[in-house]
Formats: sequence, structure tokens, C-alpha cells
Amino acid sequence: MGNGFFEVPIAVNEPIKSYVPGSPERKEVLETYKEMYDSEVEVPLYINGKEVKTKETATMSPPHDHKHLLGTYHKATKKNVEEAISTSLDARKKWAAMPWEQRAAIFLRAAELIAGPYRAKINAATMLAQSKNIYQAEIDAACELIDFLRFNVQYMTEIFAEQPESTSAAWNRIEYRPLEGFVYAITPFNFTAIAGNLPASAALMGNVVVWKPSDSQVYSAKVILDVFREAGVPAGVINMVMGDPVMITDTILASPDFSGIHFTGSTHVFKDIWQKVGTNIHNYKTYPRIVGETGGKDFIVAHKTSDPKQVATAMARGAFEFQGQKCSAASRCYISESIWKDVKKYLVADIKSFKMGSPDDMGNFITAVIHEGSFDKLASYIDAAKKDKNAEIIAGGNYDKSKGYFIEPTVIVVKDPKYTTMCTELFGPVLTVYVYDDKKWEETLHLVDETSEYALTGAVFSEDRYALEEAVKILENAAGNFYINDKPTGAVVGQQPFGGARNSGTNDKAGSKQNLYRWISPRMVKETFVSPTDYRYPFMG
Ligand code: NAD
Repeated sequence: MGNGFFEVPIAVNEPIKSYVPGSPERKEVLETYKEMYDSEVEVPLYINGKEVKTKETATMSPPHDHKHLLGTYHKATKKNVEEAISTSLDARKKWAAMPWEQRAAIFLRAAELIAGPYRAKINAATMLAQSKNIYQAEIDAACELIDFLRFNVQYMTEIFAEQPESTSAAWNRIEYRPLEGFVYAITPFNFTAIAGNLPASAALMGNVVVWKPSDSQVYSAKVILDVFREAGVPAGVINMVMGDPVMITDTILASPDFSGIHFTGSTHVFKDIWQKVGTNIHNYKTYPRIVGETGGKDFIVAHKTSDPKQVATAMARGAFEFQGQKCSAASRCYISESIWKDVKKYLVADIKSFKMGSPDDMGNFITAVIHEGSFDKLASYIDAAKKDKNAEIIAGGNYDKSKGYFIEPTVIVVKDPKYTTMCTELFGPVLTVYVYDDKKWEETLHLVDETSEYALTGAVFSEDRYALEEAVKILENAAGNFYINDKPTGAVVGQQPFGGARNSGTNDKAGSKQNLYRWISPRMVKETFVSPTDYRYPFMG
């Protein structure tokens, strides 16, 4: 076999296509959307390279058109999950031993398949399954997933190149081994890219994976799996199981070979899983790696010197793109009294100009929220605000689930900075604003820091460098991704590695080397060329 210190292609961010009227990409994605809308799919489990159908199925529908059927997916039994674990462990023997450049080639090929032949399909599937408008689908399902795959390959080679010093007498080498066992990936509904990245990043480092996508994302998860298969991920390396999340998780956590969890989703689910891992700790062969990116209550704080138009634009985009269902979405704002009148004027005008409806009408900026549970929860908070004397709804406030789960982008202005919607993650298009006294800048920064249990993203706006400096210091632990004069959403792989602390997660920064370190267990090898033959040291003479 030929050897070499192979260099992988330098990773660059995938350019975002514009989808302007008349563009070929717009035509192609709309045609694909229609084709997919008009047909039904059946999504099987995927275990050991085989499509597995079970007796129990569930239906899939677009959130913006919930009476329409997109197809069904199969739900796993306990036996299916056990089979996924055992076949992954069988597959591990060859996969973990495979030279890294072969694994790199598979995932680089997956990136190219998404960039080319699968681009329209993965975007259309994300528009249908998660109700993203084309821009939101493009930056997620196509670009971010491509970036994760390409950058992670580059990061993997950078990690492998990290080697200790050696001397002429002894050669020190670090081997970066995959974890001994299998990794469990649990993914959320809101990003197709995260759904692809959580199993792929662990697999790239030589691990085998059991992957459980969200019930609300199975339709686009199927496209990811088709890409992985076509790219050449061997049988048993990434197994996909859907169904009862508690049964699947309990079955997996009961396995002595469970070696790590790669989770993104809500905080309480992650904490429950962590607790179960603790309960099972004596059964495991290794200490499992626990990686989880969880909830947020992301803020924008605007100083009196900031530009009201810039602040309003950051609020409109940061709070309402993808209906506020980004973990990074702004949901609590602190605006200085002297600029509030202008910020309010621009923000309300922006919201009035938003069009809401199905993503296949490309004029729509806002589409539906993910499911009825989310719709009902958001509607109940809006209703409570309507009845509360201390809260005023200045935009939106209406909702309708007759055809799709549509919630109008809503802005609530509160007198109490600890009002429930200033503290609780709602995960929808509801933004709460607290207007503070200009003189209380420092006090307000402390309020921002102390109001929420989360620390995911946050943004500060000011034209005064001293004010910015104060915010940077006081809010040091309030966000894992901190933005100055920018909205708190839109992190790009390779540019702003993403993750938060406190109750927002373990901050292992998806899309960075830090994350990949969690999926390897280094072995230090010291080789001495001529071994000593006398135990005595010179000083003893
Ligand atoms: P969710 O917690 O409802 O679901 C996430 C995954 O966990 C799904 O696959 C789901 O089926 C599974 N799950 C649900 N209950 C479970 C249980 N009891 N045991 C085991 N698994 C279970 O989250 P969601 O609604 O899909 O996503 C939204 C949440 O994800 C928000 O809280 C958001 O902030 C968070 N999120 C965070 C980041 C980040 O990077 N920090 C990114 C995206 C989403």
C-alpha cells in the first residue's frame, strides 16, 4: 500500500446561492418541492446497511400544511435498537481500522453530493419538513452541512498532526483512537445540518454511531442518510432509528459499550439523559463522553449611542427568521429609553411588511412553527400577555392553526424585566422587550447576566467603545457566542464555532476542533531505540 502525508483540500465556506427570481436554482428547488409534495415516501429504519420496516409507523406532514401527507416513517422496537447497537459494534472492527484518508474521502464526497446533485432535494425536504423559507433552508441544509463536513475533515488532519517532542533516543507518537464502543447521536428538529453533523463528526473520527433524529425532522433526515449511503459510508457505521425517544435512549444507555452521546436539543431532556448515564455508570466499559448543546434565552442589549435602525434590523432578523426557532434567536431585548421610540417605529414597520405563508411562495419571510405542541404553547403565552396589565403587545399577537401552525411575529413590551417571557425559552416568534433608563447601563448589563439560566448567544449594540468594553466584561459568562453590533444568530462553521455554557450546554463548539477531540481517545506511544541494561544512575557512583 502506498503511503504519504496526505493533504486534504483546504476547507472554504460553501457560497450561498441567491434564489433570485429567474435563477436556475430557484426553478430547480421549486420543481423539486412540488415533486416531493405530490408524492409520498416511506422512511424505514436503517440498520447494518439494510432498510428495516416495522409494524408501527407514524405520519409526516408539512407544518404549514398539516393535513397534507408527505409519507410515513417506521418506529423501532427495542429489538431493533439492540440490533443497531450490535451491528454497529461489528462494523467498528473495520471502520476504526480504516486509514483516515478513506474516511475523509467519504465525507468530502458527501459534501460534494450535497453541493451538487442533492442540493435542491435536501433544501426542498427542509422546506417541507421544517417549514423553512428557501434562504433558511439553503444556509442550513446545504451550506452549513457542507461546511461541517469539509471543515471537520481539515480539523481531523490538524489534530492528527499534533505530536509530542521526541529525542534521538526515543520517538514519541500519539495515536488518536476512536472511542471504544459506539456513539449515540440524538438530533433536534430545527437544523438539518446539525442532524447530519452529530453522527458524521463522530463517524469521521472512526466511531460507529446509532443516530436518532427528531420525529419532526425524519423527512429531511432520510435525505441525509441517502447522501451518506451514496458517499460510501459502510453498512453498520451510521444506523438510523426512529420512534419512542425514551425507550430508544434507555435501551442504548443500558449497553456496556455505550461510549458517548452527541446531543442537541432542549435542556431538560439533556439533563435527564445525563442523570441516566450517571445511574448506569457502573455498567460501562469506559467513561462515556457527554456532549450536549441545549436551550437558550438569547439577548440583544442596546446602548443609548447605538443606531436605532441597526438595532431594529437585528431584532427583526435575529428574533423572527425561521420563526424564532433557532437556538440562537433573540428573544429578550433591553433597549435604552432614548432610542426606543425610533427602534419601535422601525421594528413595527418591518414586522408589518413581513409576509407569512407557505415556503414555496418565495415572497414569504415567515412560515409555520414546527408542530401543534409548539403552536399551543406559544399561543398560551401570547394570551397570557394580552391579559397582563404589565405587558403590552405592540406587534402581532394573532395565530391560526386551521391550515398550518402560523403564529404572527409578536413583540411584547414589559415593565417587569423578570416577566416570564423574559426568562423562559419559548422557541418561537415571540420577542419580549424591556425598556431601561439610559442612566442604568451598568445595572442593566447585570440584569441581562442574571435573568436567565442560559448562556448561549447575546448581542450588544453601541457606538461608545467604553460602553462596549463594559458589556464585554460584565457579560463574560452570559453567552458562549457574543456579538458586537450584530444580531446574535447566523454562526458560520470555521468562522464562529458555536456553543453556550451554563444551562445551554457543554460548549464543545460544533464546527471546531474542540468538538472532534471529544470523539477520540489518544494513545501515547513511546519507543526507546536502545533500551538501558543497567538500573544504576551515574549519580550513584
Ligand atoms: P427536544 O429536546 O424536544 O428534542 C431533541 C431530541 O431529543 C429529539 O431527537 C427528541 O426526539 C429527543 N428526545 C425528546 N425527549 C426525549 C427523552 N425524554 N429522552 C431522550 N430523547 C428525547 O428539542 P427540539 O424541540 O427538537 O429542539 C429545540 C431545542 O433544541 C431548543 O431547546 C433549542 O434551544 C435546542 N437547540 C440547541 C442548539 C445549540 O446549539 N445549543 C441547537 C439547536 C437546538
